Order: sequence, then C-alpha cells, then structure tokens
Amino acid sequence: MSIEMKPLESAERGSCPEEFSFGGTFSDHMFTQDYVEGKGWHDALISPYHTLSLDPSAAVFHYSQEIFEGLKAYRQADGTINLFRPEENIKRFNRSAKRMVMPEVDEQLHMDAIKNLVSLDQKWVPEQDGSSLYIRPTMIATSPKLGLGASANYKHFIITGPAGAYFEGGLSPISVYVADEYRRAVKGGVGEAKTGGNYAASLYASEEVAKLGYSQVLWLDAVEGRFIEEVGAMNICFVYEGKRIVTPALSGSILPGITRDSILKLAPAIGYEISESRLDIEQTLSDIESGKITEVFGCGTAAVISPVGKLCLKGKEYVINNNETGSVSKHLYDELTGIQYGTREDRFGWIQKV
Ligand SMILES: *Cc1c(COP(=O)(O)O)cnc(C)c1O
Repeated sequence: MSIEMKPLESAERGSCPEEFSFGGTFSDHMFTQDYVEGKGWHDALISPYHTLSLDPSAAVFHYSQEIFEGLKAYRQADGTINLFRPEENIKRFNRSAKRMVMPEVDEQLHMDAIKNLVSLDQKWVPEQDGSSLYIRPTMIATSPKLGLGASANYKHFIITGPAGAYFEGGLSPISVYVADEYRRAVKGGVGEAKTGGNYAASLYASEEVAKLGYSQVLWLDAVEGRFIEEVGAMNICFVYEGKRIVTPALSGSILPGITRDSILKLAPAIGYEISESRLDIEQTLSDIESGKITEVFGCGTAAVISPVGKLCLKGKEYVINNNETGSVSKHLYDELTGIQYGTREDRFGWIQKV
C-alpha cells in the first residue's frame, strides 16, 4: 500500500519559528489513514495539518479506545536528520493496539509515513542544541456507536512539532513525590499499553503533588503499594555506589520505555553494571539515607535523562546527591544524546536516517 501525498505548495509552507512551545506548535503536514472492519486500512495520505471531524458518538470520546506513541527526529550538525530506534515505537504501537483491541498497522507503512512526513516538513526540525522534532503517532476509535464493544472503525494519524531542549542550560534535578494513596496502573490492566486513559487516571495525583511543590509522581505497584514502578511519563533508575544501576523489572503495569531499554543495553558497554529487579520503596529510601544510592534518574524520550534531586514520601523528604546532577546521569545523557545527534558512534545501530 502506498501513501498519497497532497502537500501544500512550497510557497505556503512554514518553517520552525524562533519561539515555540512544546506540544503547542505543529508542522505543516500530517499523516492519516482510516480503518473499516472488513476493508482494512485504506486512504493513507499526507496532507496539510487539519482538524478532524468526528461524530459526537465516536467510541474514543466515550470509552477511551485510544493509543499513541512519542519519538523524535534529531538534526545533525551536517543538516541530515536522525530517528532513534523508530522501529521500536512502531512495534510498541502495535502491541498497544492489540491490548486495546484495535487493528495493527503495517510496520513498513508506518515507518514510511513517519519518514515521508519528517522529510516533507524538514524545515520544522529545529537546529538549536538539544532541540528536536517531536513525532506523535495516534490511533482513535471512530465508530459512531454508543453500544459497548470494540469499534469497527479507526483513524490512525501522525502529527509533529518542534521541541526545545528539555532542560535549558544543562540537566537540572526534579523533585518527586511518592504516591501513597493513588495508583496509576494495576497488573492485568493497561499500564503497559501507551493509552491515554493511563494519563487521565494519573492527573489527580499529579495536581496534588504539584500543590506541594513537586513536579512528578513516583508510582508504586497497585497490589501491595510497596514496589517502585515509574515516574510520570518516565521509567526510573537508581545508582548504587556510583557504578551499579538498578531499574524496576517490567511488571505488566510499567510502560516498557525505549529509553529504559537503551540504557539497559548501553550502560554495560560504558562501564556500569545494570540489573532489573523488584524495588521495595522503604528499602530504597533507606538506601538513599545511608548513602548507598548515589543517584536517581528518570528516563524517557522527552527528557532523555532526568536527574531526581528529591524524593518525598508522606511528608518526609530524602535528598539525593545534594540535589545536584550526578556523574552517571550526565554520562548516560551525553552518550545517548551523542548517538541521537550523531556525535558519538552508533554502536548498536539505533539510528535511521530520514
Ligand atoms: C512513553 C512513556 C515512558 C517512556 O517511554 P520511552 O519509550 O522511553 O519514551 C514511560 N512511562 C510512561 C507511562 C510512558 O507513557
């Protein structure tokens, strides 16, 4: 199946503005395709960015049958554009689709759609240090029917927009509050799918901790409220004695991050031990107090590596590494972004050119 192109005239096209807000500024074009039961995916099209017209009874509005992805395109010094492990986002999109009873998308078509879109809107890939073009593939259930059940119709679309450096002027630590009352996801539920409902479920706790001056929530497992899962839209890692990195093992309710997976593969190659295990919150906090844990950081596509300077549980605050960015966080950040921007050797074959 091929993708039809209906681009704007070149004179009508814009380019990345000097000032933009992440998630609020969008490039000139978008990709769309539709699915109808019995007919399959059809009408793959790249056309000018536009609003969607949907029936108010469309299933996505009522029962949240929705999935999304998030990846970035990085401009190299020579002007060419890199994607970082896009095939992993494409595979995860299909795993999320399966879990949400939505139709899978042909992997090659999805890849072509991303590459053609970024290539057409390449003037929108910013050039400033640490900036990128954020790519947001999405699928929604569109059947105009309130009866409960999987939708018969779907729309798959991809939009893109410029993203500035996550941290202006270098990495700065965030403060994180441990959710003791609220839970994000439960084993057997949809926590490992990238579906909007997981975020809707997390907003209340995020607002509560923001009032206390914390920027993110650390989620615990929903069964015992004891094991560490992840932070906001990031997975989490703990560094013991400056050399051993531990991250929670995937539990069924943790989102399997591609940044997390990249760290699992990269860390041993640059001199760290790394393991996945169940991390008890009380034990972990006491390891912070005793100084065994020397750094904590979140990891995800948006921030790459986000050092955690403070963890708070039930009003008691634990400061990590003097609330400063540690050397392991910085090292991993430099290595990963170096691969993404083409300044370090791509030893794992993670880069695809647009
Ligand atoms: C997307 C996401 C992550 C990070 O995944 P990456 O592939 O590394 O960007 C972590 N947790 C949640 C809940 C997410 O939605």
